[in-house]
Parts: sequence; structure tokens; C-alpha cells
Amino acid sequence: MPKHDEHRELGASTRAVHAGEPRVRDDRSLTPPVVNSSTFPFENTAELVAFMSGEVERTPEYGRYGNPTLAACEARLAALDGGDAAVLMPSGMAAITTTLLSMLRAGQRVVMTSDVYRKTRQFARQVLVRYGVEVDIVEPTLASLEAAIRDDTRLVFTESPTNPYLRVVDLEGLVALARRHRAKTVIDATFATPINMRPLELGIDLVIHSTTKYLGGHNDLLGGVVIGSQPMIDAIREHVGMLGAIADPNTAYLTMRGLKTLGLRVERQNTSALRIARMLSEHPAVSQVWYPLLESHPDHALAKRYLRGGGGLVSFELRGGLPAGTRLVDAVKIPKLAPSLGGVESLIEQPALMSFFELTPEQRSALGIREGLVRMSIGIEDPEDLELDLRAALDALL
Ligand code: PLP
Repeated sequence: MPKHDEHRELGASTRAVHAGEPRVRDDRSLTPPVVNSSTFPFENTAELVAFMSGEVERTPEYGRYGNPTLAACEARLAALDGGDAAVLMPSGMAAITTTLLSMLRAGQRVVMTSDVYRKTRQFARQVLVRYGVEVDIVEPTLASLEAAIRDDTRLVFTESPTNPYLRVVDLEGLVALARRHRAKTVIDATFATPINMRPLELGIDLVIHSTTKYLGGHNDLLGGVVIGSQPMIDAIREHVGMLGAIADPNTAYLTMRGLKTLGLRVERQNTSALRIARMLSEHPAVSQVWYPLLESHPDHALAKRYLRGGGGLVSFELRGGLPAGTRLVDAVKIPKLAPSLGGVESLIEQPALMSFFELTPEQRSALGIREGLVRMSIGIEDPEDLELDLRAALDALL
């Protein structure tokens, strides 16, 4: 199998199609086989002993420690982000929780930004604190991160772009700040994908993606991945072996299949989302639009610096508040009313009625979730169709 280094100079789409694969497989199949096996026998005790003592390399002895299909998928994901190694897990949340549990211990602090995925924050506030980890949650700006970081901060965890306001973090500033305090940096780059942003190249220690979203890309699987240096990934893999968050080989195969078109899909989603964001910003029913590549976005300068494309998500606020949002999501014909993002199908939702349903409007407001907010994940449909559909539903609000 080629080393990832050999792929560093290749473009992202070439890596997404080929990385981690030999030119010709031993079994002559073009695509990697799905190895549905929970255990991997030894020839004899001599092979067992040689493997256990590290003298020979082969597939791990048991499915919870690894699998050839997973290894192929992990090699491709590592190459795409320019990392040494990757671990695939059964969901984005499994990747996040396993990484945090493996890196933190009692008495250490983690700094997390305020609009990271809600379940990530809940895990930090409800679970990590039970194990004696202190959690500081701050705005995703360098100044707030700088004010929060201390010498006992072991890691800084953020997303970029964030959900739902697509805030973009100053990655180089963050790396310099964390290094001064000897803290590790972890970015959930699910919204960016390795097509639009590669944080490891800027010195970030670990990148996480929910592969459920763009990387799988077809709304037909759940998965998560952590990518970074070999020693850091080895340490996390040890925890996967204990905590049990091992991905399924069938999902690994589907992920690789999805990855092959990642570059094409994300390019289309970048273009369509920018077009929709521009249309929304001119529509009288809309009071505000958040899209990183719009000049009006608070982090536009950072977005221009760190993102090759703005991604497929657009968030916007309707003048008519929550009822207007409901009318809109019920009136559009193409986007489905569903959570999640990044797939080929466009999805639309009101965050107040989806991820934040159980809260009062006051509680939502305290978390920055506006009642009239709508979040749309742009799929790969024809952009004209999406625009006309959305525009008709917006016009009906006037
Ligand atoms: N990270 C981000 C940015 C997300 O949006 C999500 C899910 O919506 C997750 C992580 C969790 O991923 P999963 O649903 O695959 O567990």
C-alpha cells in the first residue's frame, strides 16, 4: 500500500478516489472487499507469538482492534486531510467522545467554543465534568480563547465553520496560542470537509469529521473519524479498543464509495450555496444571512483566508420569526424537513424546533438561537431548481 506521503502532492479529488490503495490488489478487485469477520485466525502459535511481540504486522487478531476494510477507509481519510493516520468510528459523536475521553483526565481543563454541536457541549458539561475535567465554554474568537486558556488547559476544542452561524476560527492564531500554553488543538471540521479546509497543514493537532455528513455524502450512513499524527491516533485507537466505538466494515465501504465523489459534490455545494446565500440576502422576507463567503458575515476575512469554498450550509433569519420559518419549510418542495447536512439531498430545518425544541424562547435566545432562524443544507440538485423553489416559498411570506 503506498505511503500517505506519496499522495501529499496530489489533488484532493485524486486522493479521495485513490489514496491508500495499491495499483493492483492481490485479489485483482478494483474496489476493496468488505471483510465481514469478527476474528482473524493465526496460522499457528508461532505466528501468534510473532504478532503479539510486534515482529510481524498483520490484521489485528480481533475485529474490535481493526479490520482490513476499515484500514483501507482510514488510509484514504488520513491522506485526504494530510494526516499520518486516522481512526474510523460508528458516528461523529463516537469520534468526539472517544477522543475527548482518551485525551483528558481529572484536574485538566478543556476550552470549547460556544456554538460547537450541541451534543458535544452536553457531553462536556454533563459527562466530562463527572470525571473531574473542568470545561470552559467561550465565543469562537481568538480574543475569547486567549482569555479562557490557562496553563492547566490540556486542549482546545472547536468547530470551524461552526453551527449554525458558520463562524470561522483563526486557525493560525489558535495554533500559536495553544502551543504557548502547551495545549493540544482539536477541530471538528465536519462543515468544511478536507476539500474546503485542511487544518492539520496549519498545525492543528487533530481533525474530526462526522462522516455521516459530506464525507459519506448520501444520507445513508453514520460515522466519524479522527485524523492526526501516528502517536496521537495510536493512543485514541487504544481507547477505541476499550470503549468499543469500532466502525462497521460495511459502513467503511459505503464511506469510501461516497468519498470518491466528494470533490465534485462539495464544489457543486459551494457554488449553489453561495448563489442561494446571495439570493437570500436580497430577499425582503429575510433579515439576515450567515454564509462565510458573503461580505456581510462577521468572519468573512477569516473565511477568505482559511476556506477554499464556503460549504453547503446557509443559515438565515426570517423577519416573520418562528411562524414564518414554519411556513417556509412546509412550503418548499425540494429540500426535505430533516436534521443533518452534507448529503446529496437538500435539507431544511428550524433549529428552534429541531435541536433546541425542548427549550423556551428565552433559553434559546440565551444560547444565541433566534426564533426566526432557518438552516438549509444545500444538496447537489440543480441550483436553479433550488433557487426557484426557495424564492417561491419566500415570496409567499410577503
Ligand atoms: N459534529 C458536527 C459539526 C455535527 O453537525 C454533528 C451532527 O450533526 C456531529 C458532529 C455528530 O455527528 P454524528 O451525527 O455522526 O454523531
